[in-house]
Amino acid sequence: MATRNARSAPPTIADPGTAPVTTLPGVGPALAASLGRLGLTRVQDLWFHLPLRYEDKTRITAIADLRAGERAQVEGVVEAVERGFRYRPQLKVAIGDASAQTLLLRFFHFNRAQAEQLVPGTRLLCYGEVRHAAQGLEMVHPSYQRLGGGEASVVDEQLSPVYPTTEGLGQKRLAAVIGKALALLPPAAQLELIPPALCSAHGLTSLRDALLYVHRPPPDAHLGQLLLGRHPAQQRLAFEELLTQHLSLRRLRAVVRQRRAPMLGAPRQLHRRLLRTLPFRLTAAQQRVSEEVAHDLAQAQPMLRLVQGDVGSGKTVVAALAALAAVQAGYQTALMAPTELLAEQHLRNFRQWLEPLGIEVAWLAGKVTGKARREALARVADGAAVVIGTHALMQEGVAFARLGLVIVDEQHRFGVQQRLALHEKGHQDRLVPHQLVLTATPIPRTLAMSAYADLDVSSIDELPPGRTPVQTIAVSNARRAEVIERIRAACAEGRQVYWVCTLIEESEQLRAQAAEVAHAELSAALAGAVVGLIHGRMKAKDKQAAMDAFKAGELAVLVATTVIEVGVDVPNASLMVIENSERLGLAQLHQLRGRVGRGAVASNCVLLYQPPLGQLARERLQVMRETSDGFRIAEKDLELRGPGEVLGTRQTGQLAFRIADLARDAHLLPAVQAVGERMLAEFPDRTGRLIERWIGGAARFADA
Ligand code: ADP
Ligand code: MG
Repeated sequence: MATRNARSAPPTIADPGTAPVTTLPGVGPALAASLGRLGLTRVQDLWFHLPLRYEDKTRITAIADLRAGERAQVEGVVEAVERGFRYRPQLKVAIGDASAQTLLLRFFHFNRAQAEQLVPGTRLLCYGEVRHAAQGLEMVHPSYQRLGGGEASVVDEQLSPVYPTTEGLGQKRLAAVIGKALALLPPAAQLELIPPALCSAHGLTSLRDALLYVHRPPPDAHLGQLLLGRHPAQQRLAFEELLTQHLSLRRLRAVVRQRRAPMLGAPRQLHRRLLRTLPFRLTAAQQRVSEEVAHDLAQAQPMLRLVQGDVGSGKTVVAALAALAAVQAGYQTALMAPTELLAEQHLRNFRQWLEPLGIEVAWLAGKVTGKARREALARVADGAAVVIGTHALMQEGVAFARLGLVIVDEQHRFGVQQRLALHEKGHQDRLVPHQLVLTATPIPRTLAMSAYADLDVSSIDELPPGRTPVQTIAVSNARRAEVIERIRAACAEGRQVYWVCTLIEESEQLRAQAAEVAHAELSAALAGAVVGLIHGRMKAKDKQAAMDAFKAGELAVLVATTVIEVGVDVPNASLMVIENSERLGLAQLHQLRGRVGRGAVASNCVLLYQPPLGQLARERLQVMRETSDGFRIAEKDLELRGPGEVLGTRQTGQLAFRIADLARDAHLLPAVQAVGERMLAEFPDRTGRLIERWIGGAARFADA
């Protein structure tokens, strides 16, 4: 980590925002600890702790007018109470109102006092989400208050914000502390960090007003707009958040680029020797990208380059050539892949290509343990030329002798933090390694500029010759028997087939079971053809054995879970059937389909679906039938799903925004980038404060 002196100069005006939360009245150690769990340690953290959503308690809805899926406030009288113990204790309270309808309130957590208070005749004002129940509608765990005899119910005058919170810190208390913090907001001009000239050039309204508005929407606020995040106040904040994210990535880049890296530009004997032994010639795109990489590697500044290329575009050999540049100069290369299966495939490719050149390729995965692990670690510390593995590479205790290049495959599964962790492995001699990131997830350009603002981008925009596009059809599960018949015919012609079982959001165990069931079904239906099975719960060596047998042509059909999604390469496989294809997103379907069409034979993909198809699923399958262009599919995916999923960042949290949403706010990005470049060039001190403000503790990554 860098020292903090790379940080901008201290603010010139005393900034009330940087005071600790304990300076607020009524915030003692216990409350401060709860706030700390939310990352809220300074007053300004509270200013920027924005509502997740809003509740409308400004009116009361008649039970007869309730609709499932909505949140509503209801006033009613308890008509009946039942305590049950089916499966687990529960309290069911039926309330009725003047609309002569009944609503069921259900509680799973309740104490005795609570149960005793909720007797028939009690008047309640409750708020919650309405759901369908066995009979009529219900609310599970509504918030409620009891109303005394003649007491009239008092509705709120404004929308109530709902904040992200933590165990033991209620909304009311959190809102009250935030209120106290907001009272300390400095005047607009002092709060603003985006320079006035840039604000007016881009029509940015007052930050102060925007903050006050989203925390305390006035009674006449437009709920619909607020709920969708499209209110101008929210858009103003989204702009600033996107700007901050952009600036932090740019700064991260600048900090890394200030370091020194080993110059890996030695004469390219190994490079030429590998090219001579390959059974193919590089495509023009591979050559161009390889040259871009080679040029970066020869510099004394660390390379920060993303190579994007559609599935099957041949990124692996480009990575291998980069590794050779490091080897030639006497430095080590580390290659990380997101899954064991993919890492193993890289291992085989690299060993096949590099070992004939006398280059050692070491293997270091999570499940390499005990003596084997100690030996592998010793070789890494001793200078093994190329080290391939999964995330385990980044764990404590892995020391490289002379790490010169880090290659990360399928970056969308890694977070920025993970990338940086590996980066730090190379700090000996004050040199940091070059970084090459490979991704098969094509990203629309505007998004790439935001999500990868710290990287230079190269595109392998051409497939190796001789590939024929995959013919894709969608078939209802009702015609499953016909599809199996088609598989039989394909096997008879010597073609190999993937049958992919998909179950999403279920356990690995259920996925494995589904694959086993399909395996049994196909084995029975395809007497004479050898059907193999591969799923995530199998031992690594059994998975490998299945892959090897399929690759060697010993298996006609391979029944698989989505473990084969990334990177698996068997050129002779020319038919793929994807079950329940309607449940998968476009990116995943595209990745899966990329497993066929890798050889010269014409390939087919059958998307089996379970009718009836929803609108979204119908559109997705339509896109898959129409195109195999990864970029078009990515654009479409963005349109249909939103960028969190396109970028696969759900897992990494890299782009967990407070208020911005890349799909909704993509129109802001050009201005964000323009303002960002000007701020970096002309107002670097404000840049640091913006990052402090929005990213806070996480900003140390920007200095890593
Ligand atoms: P991806 O970009 O999806 O990682 P791979 O690197 O796995 O693609 O390459 C896909 C397949 O294409 C591999 O079998 C690889 O050996 C082959 N390949 C790569 N480059 C070429 C080329 N220029 N000509 C022919 N085949 C190639
Ligand atoms: Mg690959």
